Amino acid sequence: MAERTSESAAAAVDEARLWDRHMEMAKIGATPKGGVNRQALTPEDARARALLANWAQELGFTCAMDDIGSMYIRRPGTDADAAPVMTGSHTDSQPSGGRFDGIYGILGGLEALQAIEESGNATRRPIEVVNWTNEEASRFGSGCMGSQVYTDPAKLDGMLAMKDLEGVTIAEALAETRAAMPALAHRALKSPVAYFIEAHIEQGPELEATGNVIGVVTGIAGSRRFEIQVHGEDAHAGTTPRKRRKDAVRSAADMARALFELMDDPEDTVRFTIGRFMVTPNALAVVPGHVLFTIDFRHSEEEVLTRLGDQIEAVCQRNAGPCTVTMTETRRAPTKSFAGPVPDAILAATQRLGLAHMHIFSGAGHDARYMADLCPTGMIFVPCEKGISHNEAENAKASDLAAGARVIADTLIALANR
Ligand SMILES: [Zn+2]
Repeated sequence: MAERTSESAAAAVDEARLWDRHMEMAKIGATPKGGVNRQALTPEDARARALLANWAQELGFTCAMDDIGSMYIRRPGTDADAAPVMTGSHTDSQPSGGRFDGIYGILGGLEALQAIEESGNATRRPIEVVNWTNEEASRFGSGCMGSQVYTDPAKLDGMLAMKDLEGVTIAEALAETRAAMPALAHRALKSPVAYFIEAHIEQGPELEATGNVIGVVTGIAGSRRFEIQVHGEDAHAGTTPRKRRKDAVRSAADMARALFELMDDPEDTVRFTIGRFMVTPNALAVVPGHVLFTIDFRHSEEEVLTRLGDQIEAVCQRNAGPCTVTMTETRRAPTKSFAGPVPDAILAATQRLGLAHMHIFSGAGHDARYMADLCPTGMIFVPCEKGISHNEAENAKASDLAAGARVIADTLIALANR
C-alpha cells in the first residue's frame, strides 16, 4: 500500500510546472549572460523568498522563519507529535551564479510536496521544505550559515554581527529582508528533525558522462584550507642581481610547483587548488618582497587529508630558497558520511522508479554536512550540463529535474511514514 501511494505522488510530479518555477525564479537577479546574482539577504534574495512564501501559501502550506532567516514550508502529518522530515537547499547564489544551484533543492522539494498533496497521500510525520540562509558565503563569509545556526544555536549572535564589505551586518540585512516579505510565524532553532534530504545539481561532470539521472550521494568530502605567507625583500628589478634577490614570487612559484607534484595523484581523487595568489607590492619593476597564497585541499578520506595535508608546510619550507615562509591552517572540515536510512531510502526510491543511478561522493560542501550532525541525512544529485556550476552558463534538463523531484517525493513519503 505504501508503495502504491508513493507511486501516485511521483506520478503527480509536473515537469513543466517545476521548470516554469525555475524560470520564474531566474528572473530575480537575472544577469545579462543568463545566470543570476542573488546574494544572501540582498533585495533580490528577499524577492525570491517572498515568491517562494507566496507559492507555498497559495498551495495551503504554512511558512515560518527562524532567527537567522531560514524559511520552513510545512505540510502537517497525521501524528501531531512527530518530528518532521525535511528537504531543501538555498535561494542565495554566487555573484555570477546559475539558475539551478541551490534553488533546485527548494523547488524540487516544493514540487514533491505539491505532488504528495495532490495525490492525496497522508503521512505520519510533517514534511518541510527549508530555504537555508546564506549557503554560498559570497556576500557574508561563513557559508552554510542557516544550517550551522540551526544545528548549533550558540553561533547565532556571532553570525548576526558578521558584516559584508560595505559594513552591513547580517542583523541589518535580515531586518530589511523580513520587511520585504509577508509576515511569517517564528520557528525555533534546533527543533527536532527526523530526517534531512537535500537535492542539488551535481556541479560536476560524472552523472552526465556516465548517462545516469540520479546520484545517490554517499558523503561530502572533507577539506583543509591554508594560508601561506612568503616573506622576501623588495628590490630594484633592473639593478639587483639574482644572487642578491629575495624574490617572493620565485619562491612561491617553486612551492606551488612542488605542491602540485605532491598532490597530483594518478587516480585523480585529490582536489587541490591554489585559488588566491597575492603579490606585494604588485609593481612592474619591483622584485616582490611578499606573496600570500591560499590552498583549498579536499578529499573523501580523512587519512589522505592528514597524510598529504600534513606535508604542505615542509614542502613550502624546502622550496623557500632565500625567503622565509609561514603557514596557517585556516579551516579543517571533516569528511561526512551519509551512510544510513536516508541514502538507503533514496536508493530504494530510485530503483522503484527505474531510474539510472550511481553512488557518488560530493566534492562541494552543502548544508547537508551540518544537518548530518543533527539527524540522519542524505543527498540526491541530478546532472547539470558539462558539470558547469558557479557560472552563469549553468544548465540542466527539465526531465532530469523532474526525475529528481520524483525521487524526493517517493523518499519523503517513505521516511515520513516511519
Ligand atoms: Zn548550492
